[in-house]
Amino acid sequence: MSRLVMKFGGTSVGDVERIARVARIVASERKPGRGLAVVVSAMAGETNRLVALTQGAGGEGTETALGGQDFDDEYDVVVSTGEQVTTGLLALALRRIGVPARSWQNWQIPFRTDGAHSKARIADVIEERIGASMDEGVIAVVPGFQGVTDNDRITTLGRGGSDTSAVALAAALKAERCDIYTDVDGVYTTDPRIVQKAQRLEKISYEEMLEMASLGAKVLQTRSVELAFAQRVPVRVLSSFVEPGAPNPGTIVCGEDEIVEKQVVSGVAYSRDEAKITLLGVEDHPGIAAEIFERLADAGINVDMIVQSEARQPGRQNILFTCPDREAQRAVASLEEVRARLGVEEIHVRRDVAKVSVIGIGMKSQAGVARTMFSALAQKGINIEAIATSEIKISVLIDAAYTELAVRALHTAYGLDGA
Ligand code: ASP
Ligand code: MG
Repeated sequence: MSRLVMKFGGTSVGDVERIARVARIVASERKPGRGLAVVVSAMAGETNRLVALTQGAGGEGTETALGGQDFDDEYDVVVSTGEQVTTGLLALALRRIGVPARSWQNWQIPFRTDGAHSKARIADVIEERIGASMDEGVIAVVPGFQGVTDNDRITTLGRGGSDTSAVALAAALKAERCDIYTDVDGVYTTDPRIVQKAQRLEKISYEEMLEMASLGAKVLQTRSVELAFAQRVPVRVLSSFVEPGAPNPGTIVCGEDEIVEKQVVSGVAYSRDEAKITLLGVEDHPGIAAEIFERLADAGINVDMIVQSEARQPGRQNILFTCPDREAQRAVASLEEVRARLGVEEIHVRRDVAKVSVIGIGMKSQAGVARTMFSALAQKGINIEAIATSEIKISVLIDAAYTELAVRALHTAYGLDGA
């Protein structure tokens, strides 16, 4: 007996015609000896509508704002309903074409999560009953994005969480694969809106996908990739707009060992949501960096690149870091409080910066990758303001006005341009 988990996002189930097509795609994957589960998102726009309703009812953004637990547990009750609707509609659409199917709400399975309402983490999926039903040929239709706590309170997993639900279910069911159907036909070497010659990747490793996802290639929720990596679930990203039977290979996200031809660079990613904060003339002795970054951590700032350098004055240093643009003001405010004590002479903020990265597992064993990047940027006259590297990634911070130029130049420089 084999099992397959399929997942369809909001646009793929946006109206009843699309749900009917999803039913045909699901039916085309039936074969003897294979159990099927389908995880669905809320219909396109539905989660946003539900979130807005909770705000109108006294949640965030109103004068009577309720905070934390007082708000979040009932927020989860409201926003989780979108997926419930889709499960029923898809089960009906499957039965209409003669395919046995039933919906399973999360508490019926159940998907156990921790109690962090609105951003819960899955602890356990009890797969016995749902697995047995699938193995009998009844297609299981499951709502993504949600679970229940040990106290039987409903939780949600954070926006985009249905991807994570699907991977968690696939792991629990020991499925052969988790197929994520979406509005693009796979993972590309870069954003096709910027580079027309971007190519669909046949395979990408979990590690590369994690870097791509966290850098803003929004195909999969980052947590779903982390989970797939940890549990070794092969994931395929493919289009839900291709008629069943037509070619639709998508992109396989899998272990590095399954990729024979390791590309030095598999993709170029970018993020415009960056700010650069520079602290000039900071005292230079042990404990200063610890104090600065402790402040930032307490303020919940997501620090990314960090560069420290000697200042011209003796006994002083300069520290530069980047964070998401929307957190820049908060970051500065939290540093103002300790500014005098740390002897910071000046704080500068630049918000019109972007991060461009090249990613590839082949980099681990290849020299000269950075040189190619820097000379490609130099040829276009693009200045580099900060550099960060990991084993499989090189990122540079540049003037945001040059983002597209940089992405195109790098895509060409690493030989990624298709026909
Ligand atoms: N419906 C939820 C959202 O819009 C979860 C998901 O689709 O993944 O964020
Ligand atoms: Mg999504």
